[in-house]
Amino acid sequence: MTANLVRITGTLAEARPLREAALYELVRVGPRGLLGEVIRFAGDTATLQIFEDTTGLAVGAAVERTGSSLAAELGPGLLGAVLDGIGRPLARLAAATLDRTKTWRFVARARPGDRVSGGDILGTVDEHLEHRVLVPPGVAGTIAAIGDGELAIDQPLGRLADGTALALAQRWPIRTPRPVAQRLASDRALVTGQRVLDLLFPLAEGGTVAVPGGFGTGKTIVEQALAKHADADVIVFVGCGERGNEMAELLESFPALVDPRTGRSIMERTVLIANTSNMPVVAREASVYLGMTIAEYYRDMGHRVAVMVDSLSRWAEALRDIAARLQEMPGEEGYPTAMASRLGALYERAGRARVLGAPERTGAVTMVCAVSPPGGDFSEPVTQASLRVAGGLWALDAHLARARQFPAIDWATSYSLHAATVLPTIDPSWPALRGRVLALLQRDAELREIASLVGESELEDRDRLVLAIAAIVREHVLGQNAFDPNDATSPPAKTAALARLAIAALDAADAAIAGGRELDALPITAVRRALAALRGGPERERDARTTAAQQAVEALR
Ligand code: ADP
Ligand code: MG
Repeated sequence: MTANLVRITGTLAEARPLREAALYELVRVGPRGLLGEVIRFAGDTATLQIFEDTTGLAVGAAVERTGSSLAAELGPGLLGAVLDGIGRPLARLAAATLDRTKTWRFVARARPGDRVSGGDILGTVDEHLEHRVLVPPGVAGTIAAIGDGELAIDQPLGRLADGTALALAQRWPIRTPRPVAQRLASDRALVTGQRVLDLLFPLAEGGTVAVPGGFGTGKTIVEQALAKHADADVIVFVGCGERGNEMAELLESFPALVDPRTGRSIMERTVLIANTSNMPVVAREASVYLGMTIAEYYRDMGHRVAVMVDSLSRWAEALRDIAARLQEMPGEEGYPTAMASRLGALYERAGRARVLGAPERTGAVTMVCAVSPPGGDFSEPVTQASLRVAGGLWALDAHLARARQFPAIDWATSYSLHAATVLPTIDPSWPALRGRVLALLQRDAELREIASLVGESELEDRDRLVLAIAAIVREHVLGQNAFDPNDATSPPAKTAALARLAIAALDAADAAIAGGRELDALPITAVRRALAALRGGPERERDARTTAAQQAVEALR
């Protein structure tokens, strides 16, 4: 029996009779075949959310089942792609993400007669990185035919004895996590290239971080800096509900950036998913799942993937919008009561894992989610739900942003639950260095409070020294200008050199004062200038500038 629309409100519609469909099954609606999804049943009436513009759709329009749920098409050609945005129809999400005409050189690794199951490597394709073509999870059998070839994604590369065709591409329902063999601890660092993050609040490979901050505090800049410079094999950037021009800027700046490991454009390791504020809300909700699914696909090959979401609040707001239109009982601040658990389930998809299949290999999905609390108030539900599940917090502070201390990471409230385990994997000396820097910042905060009461001139020289060195640390160790090509990213060696020299200056000057010298007679300004130069100059002359800074520190003795 065919189902027809009985009611339409915006992108939500009701269809009857549609009893046999499954929850989240995709449907095609009306003469234009608009893509929709079943999100609720009541008797034989199904509620649909439609991913495309519903203008012109009328009651009575036919609704056809597709038998499958919203799925990502996964295969060679994803890297460098911009999905679901900037002129591409949203229908691409479910229909034709990948180019059907392009061919790929497939090199078989499996042989006829091999018994294979989900995750086993059938062969490889060169997609900027090694794209391992995997047996889809859930499929198993004996290979009847396989061979090298120049193939389009729809052409079979072989088949199993039971006739199952094997291809370069596979589909996976985006709301279902792809299975792994074993979850592993996130015990190594993913270097971000941002000093304040790498040294003080390190990101773990397979870890998760929430980045809440009010408007203009630098969430987008942090997410973009990581997308550009973080040490991952594959980056998935989900532009979710934020302004379209930010996404356009990203698209412009990406191709010009070079991946230090390959010497080629970083776009070649990046998948961009654009679902900006001017696009339909229901697709926004799906965009985050699409991003996670693509990330898991590359993880399953054994790659290290990082997902940036900007911003998860817009995803939660999409849930709220949809729930309101369904007239569901609202929870805190209007969010559906399931919001926190759905957010938790989303974060759960990140992690390091021994992935499915042979040969044995590990992969990781790391996730960094911006959160946009209204009015910068972190007590609101999306920030709170994120903090309960994330392994780290990079709290962006409006005061720091106003003082143009960028990245405006509030070192007093931010944390990384993985700091103790992952810091030594960058450098064994970093935990101690981090401790010194944090202690200095803490002492600085106390002294500034005292100074605000009694005046700085009333402080002892040793305390004024702390203020002076902490100011240098804030400016040149923690501060990092995303728009300075020489400082947009900081290799660990540079981060360590800056921090070590600042601490060495503190110790040298402190000893000098203890030995009877006066602070005002010490050449602190020269140290400051030397660190400014070390921070800002070109990478290839870093050694010379480090030596100059060491001399400036020595001069304090
Ligand atoms: P949000 O996404 O939180 O609204 P943005 O990321 O767009 O904020 O940042 C707002 C502005 O703050 C930027 O346009 C830029 O001028 C400044 N800013 C943020 N981070 C940095 C940084 N690391 N270096 C230089 N400027 C920054
Ligand atoms: Mg932003």
